[in-house]
Order: sequence, then structure tokens, then C-alpha cells
Amino acid sequence: MVDELHYLQINYPEICKVYTIGYSQRFNLPILALRITSYPYIEEQDKPTILFDGIHHASEILGCEMCLYIANKLTSQYYSDSLIKSFVDYLDIWLVPMVNPDGHYITELGLDSLWRKNLRDNNYNGRIDLDYDGVDLNRNYDFLFQLGGSNEPNNRYYRGPYPFSEPEVCAIRDLAERKRFILNVSFHSDKDPRMGERVYYPWRWGNSFSPDYLHIKALTDTFALNIINDANNGTYLSIHGKAEEGGLERNYLYYAYGTFAFTCEMWRGYYPPEEKVDTICERVFLGVKYLLKRILQSHLTIRVLDKKTGLPLKAEVRVLEAYAPPETILPRYTDPIFGRIRRILKPGIYNIEVLKEGYSIVKFAIEIPTNYIKDTTIFLEPEDIIEGRFRKEIIKEKELFDLSGRKSESYPLKTGIFFSKKKKYVNIKIINPTP
Ligand SMILES: [Zn+2]
Repeated sequence: MVDELHYLQINYPEICKVYTIGYSQRFNLPILALRITSYPYIEEQDKPTILFDGIHHASEILGCEMCLYIANKLTSQYYSDSLIKSFVDYLDIWLVPMVNPDGHYITELGLDSLWRKNLRDNNYNGRIDLDYDGVDLNRNYDFLFQLGGSNEPNNRYYRGPYPFSEPEVCAIRDLAERKRFILNVSFHSDKDPRMGERVYYPWRWGNSFSPDYLHIKALTDTFALNIINDANNGTYLSIHGKAEEGGLERNYLYYAYGTFAFTCEMWRGYYPPEEKVDTICERVFLGVKYLLKRILQSHLTIRVLDKKTGLPLKAEVRVLEAYAPPETILPRYTDPIFGRIRRILKPGIYNIEVLKEGYSIVKFAIEIPTNYIKDTTIFLEPEDIIEGRFRKEIIKEKELFDLSGRKSESYPLKTGIFFSKKKKYVNIKIINPTP
């Protein structure tokens, strides 16, 4: 796997680059990512970012095979296939074929072909105890952590001592923090053949659904429909996952960054016959191609800039038709480098609010067309901010009104928002008020 990634980098330096995004818990093995995009050496690019990953679970080798398959297709067909070329030119694609190199080592050595976890030394004895050590990496993310997996170290689904205790999981989190993926497919496989050939997406939570549910469902349904199953009598199934399945990558990425994140259970079991691997990957790749094409066809994209300086702003962007309060999911922010936010919503008209402290709120309706990407730039106007010692004169001069419309006769002693005469918000921050 390591050789293959470096081989691609050497052969296609103009479109891919190998990154080390972290190191494993026990053996300090590098966790490698292959980035595929035009100008891969330019770190920050204003393109939709996508993450594919494999082998959170040590024995689920198809995840690694799938990432390598995608990498090979995107690079080798770049110059011959115009669709592939458009993926590479206009998207920023990240592949992490092996999130769990330590655990995979155990399966490779033949010590336990069904091994799932990493190799955290749970009892600190310096030995590898396959009956006690290791954390299930896909239960270690910080979303409803306490509800996920098991708290028994010897359990196959041990969630770890605390969220993000494992460096492998931190590596994915830190990459996501930088890249704010709009899409993630995590490739897995299930030991139980009846549970295979499925795609899970976020989420159902008790009796309610994720705010983007309709949009994620539409995307996942079509992704799954594009993948023919092993028996040739149907396709993969698309199923909503539960939020209460704590500590999962897909739920965390959706919760924290708004990433449309899926878990794709490939095939029906861990180890398909060697001669089948290519066909399995080829079929899943049809689904992957659909996803990438869909993103290039249309999505919501807004840039937020400061009206005075023209500089990008990190601001909250609410889509009122797909909004949930911060108790459920974190606010969706533009990235601070480009001031950009993207979301794969269905074509249609949406009501948007852009908010940032110290700036006037902007509300507008936006159309997401069916077959092109409409780029919208919003300028936020800084509110009048009076910061410093608070004196009567300032109020008199500004003629402030409180939010109920009453004129402030005596100066207010609290920090807060008031109206000026022009009905413009004035945000007052009092530092060390003087009577
Ligand atoms: Zn898995």
C-alpha cells in the first residue's frame, strides 16, 4: 500500500501528492493520505473537498483496495477520460486507504485474521494481548461517545478511555478540521454476509431526522443504486444510521463539519476470493463516479467577505430549510481562508441567513440550479462598535435606543446591542465603565 501511493506520486506528480497525516498508537507507523487534485503542491485550494478512507477496522481490507482502486483510476485515466479529468481538476480528493496500520499488521501476520481494533496497550504491560488490547477506532470519535461500543477493554467494540484518545482517529479529525470535507465515504465490510452491500448515512435520532436528511438520503440512495451487488440480482441498499450509535466517524463528521458522510459496507464478508476483488471495486467505483459527478453538477456555495476590507470571513451560514439548533449539530461555518461554504443540497430555492458577531445579519433567498454551480458572494457590513470607556457623551452623540425602542436617557451600564438614530445596530462593549 505504502509503495503504491509513492509509486503514484512519482508517476503523476502533477496531480497527486502523499501526505503523512499522523502516526499509529503502538508502532508509530505513518498514516498516509494521497491527495489527488491539479496543482497538489498548493496547500489551500478553493475546491470542494472529498475524503475516502478505509481500514478503520483491521481486517476490512476491501476499504484499502477500494481507495487504491479510486487512486489508480483517477490518475491513470486523467489524460484519456474527460470526466475523470474534470474530477481531478475541479475537486480536491483525499484518500486515506489505511487508518489503522497497527491493527492491519496483526491480520497480515496471520495472528488474528478477524482483528478489528488498533493496538492500544490497554493494560500497560508493554505486550500485545489480543484478548485485551486495542480500541475500536470507529467508536472513538467525539459524538455521543458514551453511547457507542463497549467500555470493556477486552471487547471487540471497546470505545477507548475517552473521545479522541487514539492518534489514528485524531489524524482523521485534524485533516477534516483543515479540509472541511463536503463528502466522505468510509469503506468497511461486515463479517456477517447478510449485513454487507449496504450504505449508512446520518441519521435518525430518536423520532427525528438530521436536518439534511432529505438531501443526504437522495445522494446515498442514488449512490447505492449505482452499485450492482455480488449476486447480480440487485444493488447495494441505502439505510439511515442512528445518531445513538455513538463515536462513529460519519456521525461526527456530519455533526462537526456538515460533511455528508457515509459508511459503505462492501461485499458480504471480510475476505472475498482474490479474483473477485477487482470486480467488487469496479462496481463500487460506479457509485463513486456518480457522487463526484453530482457534486460538479450543482451544490450550494457561498462566499462571505468583509464589506470594508474585502477579506474572507468565518461566518455562520444557516439554510433555514435544513437547519437545526446547535444542541443537535454544530453551526455551519464558512472556512476562514476563502470565506467559503459548500453543501450538496437538492436543486431548489432556499432561505439563507449569514451571521457573524460584530456584523449586521444578512438574509436572502438563493437558487440552487439543477445543472450548474451558482457561486454567490455576500458582503457583511461591520456594525458600529463602540469599545472602550463608556461615557454619557457617547450615548448623547449617538442617540441610542434600546431593543424595545426606548431612548436610553441614562447610560446603560451593560454591554449590549442598541439602535442608533438611523436604526442601525450599535454593538456596545464596555471595558472598565466610568460613572
Ligand atoms: Zn468496519
